[in-house]
Amino acid sequence: PPYGQSPPWYPTPKGGIAASWADSYAKASKMVSKMTLAEKVNVTTGTGWEMGLAVGTNAPAIHVGFPQLQLQDGPLGIRFADNITAFPAGITVGATWNRQLMYARGKAHAIEARQKGINVLLGPCVGPLGRMPAGGRNWEGFGADPYLQGIAGAETVKGIQSEGVMATIKHFVANEQEHFRQPWEWGLPHAISSNIDDRTLHELYAWPFGDAVKAGVASVMCSYNQVNNSYACGNSKLLNGILKDELGFQGFVMSDWLAQHSGVGTALAGLDMTMPGDGLGWADGKSLWGPELSRAVLNGSVPLERLNDMVTRIVAAWYQLGQDDEKKFPRKQPNFSSWTDEEKGVMSPGSPTEQEQVVVNQFVNVQANHSVIAREVAAEGTVLLKNEDLLPISRQGLSDERLRARRDAVERATGKRSEGKFKVGIFGEDAGPGNGPNACKDRGCNQGTLGSGWGSGAVEFPYLVSPVEALRKQFDKSKVELSEFLDNKASFGKGDGSLNDLELCIVFANADAGEGFTKWADVSGDRPDLRLQNSGDNLIVKVASSCGGGTGDVVVVIHAVGPVLVEDWIDTPNVKALLFANLPGQESGNALAEILFGDTNPSGHLPFTIGRTLEDYGAGGKVLYLPNGVVPQQDFKEGLYIDYRHFDKYNIEPRFEFGFGLSYTTFKFDNIVVIPQRRKTQYPLRRPNPAAEPPSYSTDIPSKEEAIFPPEIRRLKKYVYPYLDSTDDIEVGQYPYPDGYDQQPPLSEAGGDEGGNPDLWSNYVVVNVDVINDGPVAGAAVPQLYLQYPETESETDFPVRVLRGFDKVYLKPGEKKTVKFNLTRRDLSYWDVVAQNWVMVTEGPYEFSVGFSSRDLSISGTW
Ligand code: BGC
Ligand code: BGC
Repeated sequence: PPYGQSPPWYPTPKGGIAASWADSYAKASKMVSKMTLAEKVNVTTGTGWEMGLAVGTNAPAIHVGFPQLQLQDGPLGIRFADNITAFPAGITVGATWNRQLMYARGKAHAIEARQKGINVLLGPCVGPLGRMPAGGRNWEGFGADPYLQGIAGAETVKGIQSEGVMATIKHFVANEQEHFRQPWEWGLPHAISSNIDDRTLHELYAWPFGDAVKAGVASVMCSYNQVNNSYACGNSKLLNGILKDELGFQGFVMSDWLAQHSGVGTALAGLDMTMPGDGLGWADGKSLWGPELSRAVLNGSVPLERLNDMVTRIVAAWYQLGQDDEKKFPRKQPNFSSWTDEEKGVMSPGSPTEQEQVVVNQFVNVQANHSVIAREVAAEGTVLLKNEDLLPISRQGLSDERLRARRDAVERATGKRSEGKFKVGIFGEDAGPGNGPNACKDRGCNQGTLGSGWGSGAVEFPYLVSPVEALRKQFDKSKVELSEFLDNKASFGKGDGSLNDLELCIVFANADAGEGFTKWADVSGDRPDLRLQNSGDNLIVKVASSCGGGTGDVVVVIHAVGPVLVEDWIDTPNVKALLFANLPGQESGNALAEILFGDTNPSGHLPFTIGRTLEDYGAGGKVLYLPNGVVPQQDFKEGLYIDYRHFDKYNIEPRFEFGFGLSYTTFKFDNIVVIPQRRKTQYPLRRPNPAAEPPSYSTDIPSKEEAIFPPEIRRLKKYVYPYLDSTDDIEVGQYPYPDGYDQQPPLSEAGGDEGGNPDLWSNYVVVNVDVINDGPVAGAAVPQLYLQYPETESETDFPVRVLRGFDKVYLKPGEKKTVKFNLTRRDLSYWDVVAQNWVMVTEGPYEFSVGFSSRDLSISGTW
């Protein structure tokens, strides 16, 4: 395999250069200087799979007062916990285009984490980015555009960290598909390599991580896959170069679970914490760090400096979030266990050593009123894609007037008139409760209504309000007669006329996917295609043709992990409305009812493109389902052209474009004003000198005694300790370092502070535009700003347009508000691979187009 395509970048830049972290580093340095070797190793290494109550735990540095940290999934709630909130998934959050809600959901999530005893949340997720619409985990993130992912990720990080919980931005980077993401699930010796060029890496895949670092994220999780044929968790260019030098990341890098493949190599490449601590297998007790890291430091193969930096980064992050405050973060174990629902259990079920039973589940309810936020996100994340004068309907069905008109029309056409109550049918497994929301482990099957995808990004639903439950409750039974057909295979309507009476049919269908460790039907993490599942298309077609004998109005509701094809039925005349509800979480039915009945005016917009075929997304949009080598190679040859960038470049008409979403009212723009804030210059200001000095420590290799097993320790089998039984054979030697180790590349001009060169984040231009609600009801508009780069002399290739701003504004009928878009230097630049810097085009005018989707751009200005 073509190893070595990723250039070396050594040594690891030390944390402690940013003013924003200076106090925390000062405190950390005091604490770390007092730690023994074993304590330092403890802080960096997980104790093993299922060795603590959370999915990840490192070990404490007891005598200096540094506690064991508790790490828990995931991006939409507290995994494996009781009495928590199952928030809508990331993709639904992206569809809200609402910064306040992004922040609020993160904050509520963190309150629950803290009250359950969690220090570090394993989310948000901004990678996968969504290169492949069928990618299994796209739904954990916020949409197929780096700008949207970046804002949503950063707002979520800020929300989480406002409560003192450390956020983890994941997965760094280019883990775009589940197939071959790591070796063991796929029977291969190696993980897939995502091969990406430097510019694409910067402008697409690494971009949202930059926002998270700028927002102060405490930790970054490196991904399972290889990037340019070097494992992401051992890739010095990515971790040392891009993350720690260029983006100035001050927190710590943790491995995805078992994503570490070498001990010394990953340490030198910039990994700071290994999770879950085991080496090459779950709960195998053989860590690549732990005792081996102690040995490596004692024999000099991992410089003590590097270990000190790892530990300092972790301890500084803990201070940075204020977790040293024992009132907020009591030094206690989590009050729930990830591994049992019983009240009592053992502390380390991963160990075969017999242990005493203790209370591990205290069933603490941390939900507060977070269902309100969950519901708001679900409602605002519901996208109205089609509406031909049908929605909203009232709880009484149609108004007397509309009902009479409708019945007149049907009578004229068929000679038959229906009488009495308004007749509504609800169709599809996806409308109902199925076998309950937690029927399959980690939500790894598609049955009942779809509230989330599956895998580590899913939680145990405390409840899931199904659509049918909400609709049953809310339709006015004195006016509406409801029939339910919750089985997709039901053989109604085959010319038997059983649906002839129905006047409105609401049909539900879905598409599910998730993390690669679970397979359901023909979905091995990644979807095999973009079709609705459980015969959803058939169901919709059947319902449309038989609802009211073909005259009934049909509303289609879709729950999905990403884009689905709608071609089989979208143009059918009586399919009057389509609601794309994404993955709504526990409040599903309630949120949907709000929209259907018009209590809430839909304001969701698509965070991805819905094409007419999978082919429409281009060659890069295809999951690699069969390995093409010992190290499967996935070349990101399409470069910048994913999702709408691809559709725009090749002039492909999508079914529904990126950013699209309807409302029950209409909006328009007026009066665009472009106000330059700074002069256009090609390059950012020079990289600033570091605001602070990283801590320095004694470089004397510690005494071997510090790594010897203390005799008083009661050892659990397979538990990862930092200790060695004997250190007799350890000698400080001359060890070979990786190629390029002694040739440090120049520091990046794009770096210099947390988030990179501060000038990249300065506003260079402001675009103001008025948004007016010129329709009949109040509602929220989502103005979006797309930038078109000027032509350059060197004919740099640019996407037709890229998203560089959005807002959400609530407007009463007739009301007007001015929306302000701030564009930073980074927003206006491209990554120049020769200059190795962000470059602004100074030759011609930038064009800013503002609209309600990526293809509905009605007003523009230039700079
Ligand atoms: C997933 C991560 C998750 C971790 C811990 C891994 O398989 O890729 O996203 O945080 O497990 O459960
Ligand atoms: C972890 C996954 C892992 C799986 C194996 C999950 O709980 O989060 O990362 O692949 O367990 O069973």
